[in-house]
Amino acid sequence: MDTVSVFQEVKQRFLNALKKIWGVAFFIFASGALYFVLTGDAFSILPLVGCLFFICIIFTLILINRIYKCPVCGEVPSSTSGNTAGHGLSGGIVMNPVKCKKCGAKFE
Ligand SMILES: [Zn+2]
Repeated sequence: MDTVSVFQEVKQRFLNALKKIWGVAFFIFASGALYFVLTGDAFSILPLVGCLFFICIIFTLILINRIYKCPVCGEVPSSTSGNTAGHGLSGGIVMNPVKCKKCGAKFE
């Protein structure tokens, strides 16, 4: 299997999905900011914006787990060393990994 091109495609799909989520989020944040500027009322908009931010984070984590992973073994490219438990989310993901830490498949 040509893991390099497969992974580049995976990365592209992941980035596109990410752009959609945060594009919508940005629009809502901007609306929230505008509402604050126009009304001076931050208390009614802050919980909503905070909630949305939280939802976007959750969606991003779901995306990472569902899309952004090694096409061979399913490991998420993360900055954690070794094959620790979970999906490596705690260590942060790596956007340009050279190869899979778990199975050694080439990504670049
Ligand atoms: Zn792998």
